[in-house]
Amino acid sequence: MDCIFCRIIAGEIPSDIIYQDGDFFAFRDVNPQAPVHILLVPKKHIKSIADVKPEEVELLGRMLAVAPKVAEKAGVAESGYRLAFNYGADANLVVPHLHLHIVGGRKLDDMMG
Ligand code: AMP
Repeated sequence: MDCIFCRIIAGEIPSDIIYQDGDFFAFRDVNPQAPVHILLVPKKHIKSIADVKPEEVELLGRMLAVAPKVAEKAGVAESGYRLAFNYGADANLVVPHLHLHIVGGRKLDDMMG
């Protein structure tokens, strides 16, 4: 297995786990951009938001529905948070396993920066 997030999900690489269920896994980003910075990933290896197959759309929808639960566990449900998928070079996508950034715990900058 050469996908770093698959290895995190499998427990081969340690992570600070916030949430997991049968289909999803959420852990703290190792290089946080804010006091709360969590990555929510599907356990199924999907390469990116541009690689979601029609039969995976339902999984993606449930992933979005899980994000507020993760935010609640992280203590930012009241104060607010941002959800972001990066894609491609201009957005600095690095890890080729679909992940939703959940960022909060401070007033965030203009999103288009
Ligand atoms: P992206 O730029 O959207 O591909 O984001 C990948 C994120 O994964 C970055 O914010 C990294 O800091 C984070 N990351 C990389 N390796 C690890 C790791 N072992 N544990 C936690 N987060 C990681």
